[in-house]
Amino acid sequence: MSYARRVAARRRAVHVRRARRLALVALAAGALLAGEVAMLSQLVERGGASAAERLPEPAPTVAADQIIPVPVIVQATAGDPADAPKGCADGALQAKGPQALLDAFGGAAGMQAAILDGDAPCVPLDDPSLPWVVVNKTRPLQPNDYAPADVRVPPSHMVEGELRADVIDSYEQLVAAAAGEGAGAISLFSGYRSYGVQVETYGSQVGARGQQGADALSARPGFSEHQTGLAVDVVACDGGCSTIYEFGGTRQGTWVAENSWRFGWIVRYGPDQTPTTGYEPEPWHLRYIGPELAAVYHEGGYATLEEFFGLPAAPDYG
Ligand SMILES: [Zn+2]
Repeated sequence: MSYARRVAARRRAVHVRRARRLALVALAAGALLAGEVAMLSQLVERGGASAAERLPEPAPTVAADQIIPVPVIVQATAGDPADAPKGCADGALQAKGPQALLDAFGGAAGMQAAILDGDAPCVPLDDPSLPWVVVNKTRPLQPNDYAPADVRVPPSHMVEGELRADVIDSYEQLVAAAAGEGAGAISLFSGYRSYGVQVETYGSQVGARGQQGADALSARPGFSEHQTGLAVDVVACDGGCSTIYEFGGTRQGTWVAENSWRFGWIVRYGPDQTPTTGYEPEPWHLRYIGPELAAVYHEGGYATLEEFFGLPAAPDYG
């Protein structure tokens, strides 16, 4: 299915869910009139305030026959997961980190679905410290000169490069699995690049190819995934190491395309995705999004992060 048709299909699904929610609210209103307290409890919980806060206190000194019965609060039962309250109820969630956010949505599939539905305002896609940040030609890093707190050289490195300290283990597992499963040796060629380094990288591409040619291959400073510390360019090293441009035609390139998701990585700029990503295919450029989201990405057959999160295509700078 084309990107546009998939987006349209998802929008239809969102409308169906919204209609179901409206029906639920109407049902709850009807239930209120009938004195169905359990439904009241459920409705009030959805509004974010506890039922107890809204119910009148019983008057302390009145005759028994004047006492207004205080409804018994019954725990709301879980209904259709698609209609369940989403994971943003805990206001302190963001400070607890990415795993707490995933858990609040019952895992990566729930979080992605909520984002697609517009029901996950507590899950920023522009926070460069989060593994699912989306950086593209219309979504620069915020702030522009962001730098991760801790970047290190991975133990398996043969060429050069650093990456965020907390994703080194998953990268090393990928490299070890490629070798262990017969695909051969993989090495980091380029990892974290600071804003300043990207000024030089992009500048040298402009010098070699002109601005249009550079924009097809290299991000402008402040727009590069490499600045997050979550992106790597890898090369195949059988004896000597070949270049990034040869990686797609190697055993390692084939293996990475099929298996990197198992370790939390995706090939960010896939074949035929230039209209969405703004980049020519880069089979060597892997991006860490975490193993849970990467599994959902893989199982859903997604080819771009933009499509995965329902974001507009970013073929060019704004
Ligand atoms: Zn790259």
